[in-house]
Amino acid sequence: MDWREQQPYARKQGESFDVKYTGSCYCGAVKFKASSDPVDAKFCHCTGCQSLHGAPMQWAAIFHKKDILFDEDALDNINFYDSENKQNVRHLPCKISCKQCRSPIADEGRNMMLMFPVAFKIDRRNIPHAFKPTCHIFYGQRVADIKDGMPKFEGHKDHSNKIEE
Ligand SMILES: [Zn+2]
Ligand SMILES: [Zn+2]
Repeated sequence: MDWREQQPYARKQGESFDVKYTGSCYCGAVKFKASSDPVDAKFCHCTGCQSLHGAPMQWAAIFHKKDILFDEDALDNINFYDSENKQNVRHLPCKISCKQCRSPIADEGRNMMLMFPVAFKIDRRNIPHAFKPTCHIFYGQRVADIKDGMPKFEGHKDHSNKIEE
């Protein structure tokens, strides 16, 4: 089936979607909605995220695909990037950005969406609790120390050593 007919890019006809949050890329060409809070959120300090985001770390909020819906007119402006094979193709897992402004929007996994909270219309001085990171992963590759009391894993969450602050 074409990706344009699947979640999170489409819904079956007549299927309802309760909008809890809205968001978009920097320029607004790619808009989306969320129907729930994220199930978890994290900071990833891996060198891949650093390079792909041009930032010291990645901040991601995890949603089920059924809880995200991209606007229909956004689909032509979505760029898919398979960072493992370094190709602009939708081979999951892959990265989603805007073809116009190039801002990163999400990582699409096989079952989950890792949405980037800065793309949501939320108060950045008063972040909703569910978007707050619960841990740091790949902290062994960090370029900045963060003293926030959250668990810090050298690599993957729960599958690598913890690092003390
Ligand atoms: Zn854009
Ligand atoms: Zn990473």
